[in-house]
Amino acid sequence: MNAKLSIIVPCYNEEESIEMFYDAMEKIKKQMPLNFEYWFIDDGSTDHSLKTMRKLNRQDKNVHYLSFSKNFGKEAALYAGLQHATGDYVTVMDVDLQDPPELLPEMYHLLVSKRLDCVGTRRTTRTGEPKLRSFFAKTFYKLINSISNVKMVDGARDYRLMNRSMVNAVLQLCEFNRFSKGIFEWVGFKTEYIPFENQERQAGTTSWSFWKLFNYSIDGIINFSEIPLDIASIVGALTCLGSILTLIFIVIRALCFGDSVNGWPSLVSFILFLGGIQLLCLGIIGKYIGKIFLETKRRPIYLIKESDAYEL
Ligand code: UDP
Ligand code: MG
Repeated sequence: MNAKLSIIVPCYNEEESIEMFYDAMEKIKKQMPLNFEYWFIDDGSTDHSLKTMRKLNRQDKNVHYLSFSKNFGKEAALYAGLQHATGDYVTVMDVDLQDPPELLPEMYHLLVSKRLDCVGTRRTTRTGEPKLRSFFAKTFYKLINSISNVKMVDGARDYRLMNRSMVNAVLQLCEFNRFSKGIFEWVGFKTEYIPFENQERQAGTTSWSFWKLFNYSIDGIINFSEIPLDIASIVGALTCLGSILTLIFIVIRALCFGDSVNGWPSLVSFILFLGGIQLLCLGIIGKYIGKIFLETKRRPIYLIKESDAYEL
């Protein structure tokens, strides 16, 4: 009996890509000594994605789907997929074929031959991506790697093949604010990356706007580093030291040269500067408190409205 591979595919308004993806995967299946099980996650799509999933499910009993009650985001979809997957191996893939299915046999071979727990993929190029987006992505990786204990690989995609023990480990991290790139690194396990050239989307459009990505990277930093809080304290300490030195200078000047009312513009700038720093630090602390607030509410990460796997 062959081992089973669960394929998790988050989909948000992807009616054009789902069947294309399924066909491409069925071709790859022939080259692998594994049984496939698909988990399509409809992340609150407003197009006909769910219909397509239902159709594939009727055609092939190895195709399963979960449909969320609204858009919960890709991270929630990934988590739902991991929870439902029953395979000995699990892979996570984008439906737009930007994660090339052709790499899968090579990934599986590497995983088995080197006895790894996970084989990830890493883009070596970013062709076809807006220049500004690439620049910010690069800056984000530099920043997060310098301020977090969890090292994130530049260009690493969520596309990866994991064995059961690693999947079970990832599932133990049931936090509400999920940042998979960090979670996959945080759990450890033996991982290697296969480099590949960036692929352009085959159909549909990306649902990540610049702001969505910007917020996502801030989430990554807040979730995996406490350095911003340290920076707030250090800046506070330095301004304190600065003000003490200024005070000493003013006292000595007043003693030596007498008091003068000159200098109110510098006083105003000092006050504004301090006010600014205080607000900035409050903002940083607020970000963390916001995350704590969401985490303590213990809301479910996703809600399922329809699935072939069980009656709701
Ligand atoms: N996706 C999702 N929920 C969302 C946004 C995206 O499930 O809120 C899915 C999307 O359907 C795709 C994958 O996540 O399969 C990656 O999204 P996309 O291709 O838009 O991102 P990009 O490749 O441009 O980073
Ligand atoms: Mg994509």
